Order: sequence, then C-alpha cells, then structure tokens
Amino acid sequence: MRDLIFTVDLDRDVNLPRGGEFEAGSIDRGSGDSPRFSSADRGLSVLLDLLDDMGVTATFFVEGRTSEVVDCSRISGHCIGFHGYDHEDLTGASTGLRPTDGQLEGILRTGFEAVSDNVSRPVCFRAPYMSVDGRVLDAVSSLGIVHDSSFYAGPEVGAYPLPNGMVEHPVPKGADRGGRTIAAYLWPLHEGRRVPQDYIDLAMSSDADEFVLATHTWHMVEGRDTGPMGRSEIESNADSVRRVLEEILDGGFRATALVR
Ligand SMILES: [Zn+2]
Repeated sequence: MRDLIFTVDLDRDVNLPRGGEFEAGSIDRGSGDSPRFSSADRGLSVLLDLLDDMGVTATFFVEGRTSEVVDCSRISGHCIGFHGYDHEDLTGASTGLRPTDGQLEGILRTGFEAVSDNVSRPVCFRAPYMSVDGRVLDAVSSLGIVHDSSFYAGPEVGAYPLPNGMVEHPVPKGADRGGRTIAAYLWPLHEGRRVPQDYIDLAMSSDADEFVLATHTWHMVEGRDTGPMGRSEIESNADSVRRVLEEILDGGFRATALVR
C-alpha cells in the first residue's frame, strides 16, 4: 500500500502577496484587498463533510491568523501543521521584503503559537506560496518541527531528508498525457482547467511510497478567476475532489496523515 497524504492549506481567501508588506491580502472583488476569511470558513465545512463521509484523515496547514478567525475545533481529529501567521512570503521573493532573522523568528513563532492555542501544537510546516529557503527551514526546525512540505519534486521522489535534518514531503509535479506540466495542487481543477483523471494519472505515474495531494479550503467555494461559486458549482467542485480521492484510494493507496 502506498500513502495518499491529502494536505489542505487553511488560509485567507484567494491570498495574494502585497508589495512591501509581510501581511498578505485577499483578491480585490471591488472592496479592496484586505484579508477575507469567509470562503476559507465555508469551504472548510464543505471539505470536512466530504472527508468525514469518506473516512479520510487529512493534514491541515493552518495559517495563524485564520485560526483566530475560523472555528478550527472542527479539524482536531486531523494532522495539524502551520502556515505562517499572516501568510507572509518568508523569503521576500514576491514582496521584495525579506524578513530579518529576528522578524522571521517572530513571524514563525507567532503563527506556531496561534495554531497551538486555537487548534493543537503543529507537527509540520508548509511555507506560504511554497516560498522557502535554508534559513526559513532552520527557523522552522528551531520550533521543534521535523516535517516539511514546501517543495515540488518529480512524482517518483517521495519523502527525503533535508540538509538540516528535517524530512521533506514534496508536492509531486510531473507531466500529463499531453506533456503539459501538472502539479498535485488541485488549483486548476477548482478553476475548471483540469479534470479529476489528470490527478489520478499523476498519482499512478510513479511507485514512490507516498503521494502528497494539496488544496485550499477557500477553493471549495470560490474560484480565483470566477469568484464565489453558486450552490451547483460547489456541489460539482466537491464531486470532482471526491472522485480524485476515491480513485487514487481505489488504485492502491491508503489515506494517511503526514505525521503519524
Ligand atoms: Zn497558503
């Protein structure tokens, strides 16, 4: 049996880096780019209904601020990781604002503590925007976190040790039947640009001992390009996610937490 590790970023709605600021915003739908959390909250309910129904344990990477706004008691039976505090780009690649060592430590500690207080002590980490380097990983490691999932790698790679002693669980990225690049983030599925079979094929394309699949709770109810979904869109979006999970599980995987 191979492991299907279903990971869910629980962060602000359609998050976007804001130049010159650590704090991320949400996409501007006409009333500015201040962070919003309503789709993250609503999408969490939709996703949990699905996971409960299927008996699937997931791994949630929870953003500190989101854990203060959204009721996270609902995810207590799942594996809990953290995902920054205000969805900061920790390398500054997208904002042009690279945190100092002290700022980096402060951001990570605040996020870690918020999730500890509002959910449970995190046991793993995913960097917002997958923006990570050795300095960030060392700061994460100093919080006692051993498991990371902030890199992409070929689907044949599986878990591997990082130079600082942490264990990396990369998100697979490969090619589809047409040779187009596909990552195991369900983003394009939620936007109607990919079909479930593309992800099922990606999972089956290697024999690595684990397959990390990823999504966001807000993406269960809001498209980045198309905006908030109506009821039938939400149902069909959830059906697509269910099909991906079911068929991967039927293909010889078992759903497991990232840290057991
Ligand atoms: Zn995120």
